[in-house]
Amino acid sequence: MIKLDLPNDCMNYQEVIDSCINKMRENNILKEKLDENKYDLIRISKLYIKLGETNKLYKLYKCRMGNTLINMRNQLTNDDMVKIYDQYFVNHRCGGFYDRIINNAKNPEIQCPFCGGINSPNELDHFLPKKDFSYYAIFPYNLIPICKDCNQIYKKRFCPNDKNKQLIHPYLDNEQVFNEKWLYAKFIMDPTDIEGKSVIEFYVDPPLNWEEDKKEKVKIHFEQFKLAERFAIRSVTELGKLLGYIKLLKSKELSMYDLEEFIDSGIESIKSPNSWEKALFEAVKRELPAIWENI
Ligand SMILES: [Zn+2]
Repeated sequence: MIKLDLPNDCMNYQEVIDSCINKMRENNILKEKLDENKYDLIRISKLYIKLGETNKLYKLYKCRMGNTLINMRNQLTNDDMVKIYDQYFVNHRCGGFYDRIINNAKNPEIQCPFCGGINSPNELDHFLPKKDFSYYAIFPYNLIPICKDCNQIYKKRFCPNDKNKQLIHPYLDNEQVFNEKWLYAKFIMDPTDIEGKSVIEFYVDPPLNWEEDKKEKVKIHFEQFKLAERFAIRSVTELGKLLGYIKLLKSKELSMYDLEEFIDSGIESIKSPNSWEKALFEAVKRELPAIWENI
């Protein structure tokens, strides 16, 4: 939903690994294991970026758990990698990367990239779950700021396992997904009580010229995070305010065209084409003559 750029000072994976290694005591077996496998981890991190940028992360699915991508030297296990993440990356805040990555999304314009800013991000998500893809447990491109609801209720341990079953990757997905419109809404008017009973229904309609896998991706993302329901709930207050304003202008005998200008300025002020607020304004604008007549 929302494009995020990984902070520049979190892009050097070797620095991230070294910051964990440097925190470990000399006789720590984990230290030796991580050090020995460092360059293999860096090597496969490049594959992650390449697949992520070409919509093919699902190809890693068959490599989960067994670490079949690389033969970990000295038996660096899944549990070891999860422990390195939990103890060193998170608890010891090695290199300060954990906070830098989360804070990157904590500004009013970004927020949780998965739900389009319904909530604030306060957790870090492993885009490929750490228990299944442990060799990406501390890889910054796999660590994405996320809100608690998206992480714990909706995404959970989602694994992309098919070309047509993937989620939007906020760092790596193609610009098209962020810059071209695929989120729309319909204003469903209840003429018996326009302000109280009318609702907004959100839906996905990707551009026709997109490849099938990309179309599926935005649909799966929308379904997985239950965005139709969550956007509808979120839009109740905004819709109420907008309908109240329409009613007020009508009562003052202003013209519908004045109102149209106001709605247009609202639409233009929201830059992201797939913002739920933009879709809400557009839906109301489409039905404006009927609303104006009946309100
Ligand atoms: Zn969210």
